[in-house]
Amino acid sequence: MKKAIVFGAGGFIGSHLVRRLKAHGYWVRGVDLKRPEFSVSAADDFIVGDLRDRAVVDAAIDTGIDELYQLAADMGGAGYLFSGDNDAAVMHNSALINLHTSEIALARKVGKVFFSSSACIYPKYNQLDPDNPKCAEDSAYPAEPDSEYGWEKLFSERLYIAFHKNHGLDIRLARFHNVFGPEGPWQGGKEKAPAALCRKVATSDDTIEIWGDGLQTRSFLYIDDCLDGIQALMKSDFIGPVNIGSEEMISINDYAQLIAQIAGKTLKIKNIPGPVGVRGRNSDNALAMEKIGWSPQLTLAEGTERLFRWIIGEIG
Ligand code: NAD
Repeated sequence: MKKAIVFGAGGFIGSHLVRRLKAHGYWVRGVDLKRPEFSVSAADDFIVGDLRDRAVVDAAIDTGIDELYQLAADMGGAGYLFSGDNDAAVMHNSALINLHTSEIALARKVGKVFFSSSACIYPKYNQLDPDNPKCAEDSAYPAEPDSEYGWEKLFSERLYIAFHKNHGLDIRLARFHNVFGPEGPWQGGKEKAPAALCRKVATSDDTIEIWGDGLQTRSFLYIDDCLDGIQALMKSDFIGPVNIGSEEMISINDYAQLIAQIAGKTLKIKNIPGPVGVRGRNSDNALAMEKIGWSPQLTLAEGTERLFRWIIGEIG
């Protein structure tokens, strides 16, 4: 039986990943500051601990581990990452986790280490045109991420690559682009656009407020497709970094209208000042197709409908 550890197992993608690994017959240990919010973890063993503490990482990674998935990070939606108030915490907390993880995974001879980087590493200057953003993997340098969160991800990508080059640590690096789905944050400040918009549409009968002019574009990847991408990368010989995202780009205003349609409502949009990030962002999946044979299967409308139904259930 393969043994896996998931750091960040109490979070959105981590809790789904634990369930997926269990379904594939793994023994799984989850580690996180907290247990999953919306369901009981499927992990065989769950350590509630702070991965900034080297002793916690040291205790969590024993020998004989086939795969370690490092998903723990201090993160949130635009309201958290772009306010400027959380920059020091985001950089310091996540870098500490990755510094400890790379070192101890090597010492304990972990089979493969997966690290979740982000589309937020891509340079601002390539994402000024909402209709034509450039996010191919080789466009990452010269670097100019638009947030400290992106800079930390870029640093940690390089950290894992350095451990690979100098010490032979077997790594897989994915750059996730806006992953969404049920059992993720949908209120309280850490939710991202899909869940926030679904909540606004579900709770409104007249007008919904959207940050910025709403012409900024994004793409959103449904969680099941993300898990397929992680598994395809882990099975391949390609270390990455590789985009795991959707190429179905949409403006935020149009996305709100799509959700209103799913809800069967006619709503007005009021654009208000707020943190918005880059003007345009879309995944470029050419490398993922070529190297790991993966591309998303669900349309944005199909995935969003599943999320919307789940949020309706949560609102009650
Ligand atoms: P999440 O916030 O739901 O999960 C991250 C988890 O890490 C949380 O449960 C949190 O408690 C845990 N964590 C944070 N600091 C910790 C610490 N010091 N010790 C132990 N646990 C700690 O986020 P997610 O959406 O599941 O994202 C998972 C990973 O994927 C993150 O690394 C994130 O940066 C990356 N990513 C996500 C997206 C996305 O759209 N969801 C996009 C790009 C990259």
